[in-house]
Amino acid sequence: MAKKDYYEILGVSRNASEEEIKKAYRRLAMQYHPDRNPGDKEAEEKFKEINEAYEVLRDPEKRAAYDRFGSIGEGAYEGFRDFGDFGFTADFQDLFGDLFGEFFGTSRRRRQRGADLKYDLEISFEEAAFGTEKEIKIPKMERCGRCRGSGARPGTAPTICPTCGGRGQVRYQQGFFSISRTCSTCNGEGKVIRDPCPSCSGTGRVRTVKTIKVRIPAGVDTGTRLKISGEGESGIHGGPPGDLYVDIIVRPHPLFKREDNNIICEVPITFPQAALGAEIEVPTLEGKVKMKIPPGTQSGSVFRLKGKGIPDIHGYGRGDEHVIIKVVTPTRLTERQKELLREFDALSQEESNPTIKGFFEKIKDLFG
Ligand SMILES: [Zn+2]
Ligand SMILES: [Zn+2]
Repeated sequence: MAKKDYYEILGVSRNASEEEIKKAYRRLAMQYHPDRNPGDKEAEEKFKEINEAYEVLRDPEKRAAYDRFGSIGEGAYEGFRDFGDFGFTADFQDLFGDLFGEFFGTSRRRRQRGADLKYDLEISFEEAAFGTEKEIKIPKMERCGRCRGSGARPGTAPTICPTCGGRGQVRYQQGFFSISRTCSTCNGEGKVIRDPCPSCSGTGRVRTVKTIKVRIPAGVDTGTRLKISGEGESGIHGGPPGDLYVDIIVRPHPLFKREDNNIICEVPITFPQAALGAEIEVPTLEGKVKMKIPPGTQSGSVFRLKGKGIPDIHGYGRGDEHVIIKVVTPTRLTERQKELLREFDALSQEESNPTIKGFFEKIKDLFG
């Protein structure tokens, strides 16, 4: 092999910095890249030469040896010439990064799972209790219909990767060792897209808004997370789709509160109703029901309506409704009403109000 001046090949001075060498290499490699000079044997040769020079000068040890002896041992760089069909250096992709893909019209084809999506869904108290079906609109990446997800322009197909010749692996020699690594041009797929689909720019996916029917089981609550398998974003290059997670948010109810599967309802009654007993109307999830209040009901008393709560999400029966009685003190009394209450109070005996009697007895015991 003829002795080559690597500095001359890269057009840099003998004391060029690493950065200058890298810059020069990058510029020349772009210029002589086979993809930009199809069928041009001279360019291809030149490209190989540039790579060879760079492989030596980028490595301080090899560069020092080269500077000293004017060449480096045949074996030392021989291996570096086998970088696939076009003699790319192993870290060509590292050096050029994404620019490579744009520049040469190739794109990476790595099989990737689609992203998971999360959606907050607000529903009413009743819908949470009894279940429902909702249509939700999800903006997401879906498989491109035009290229059927291949990413290649319709009528064309992905082509064999020029870096690895379709093997998906790049091999190079390091001393006695032969090292293989995943081809970074095609990410091991062995294929690249030269003519990208115009709808999805070669990604195989397009942004759409998809309407999805979500079945919400009875008994869900705020914080319940429903998983809808496969309704996340579609996979990349044939990868599996992600999942959709629907997080339930239950709107507050004007009458009911929820505690586990029980519902709590506070019902106001009048003092006469509480004292005399009454039949009152109580709201439930399924409409009004009549409930008997016994005479002498105190404020805060709880009555249970069995099975009127929320169905268990796992199907284990149903909760109860707890009716909390609130005795309301009347306001805005008429003169006649006041008169009657004064008369009532005058007639009140201690025995009529055992609770109050007990309270005053306790005070007497304490303070005398
Ligand atoms: Zn497409
Ligand atoms: Zn490849």
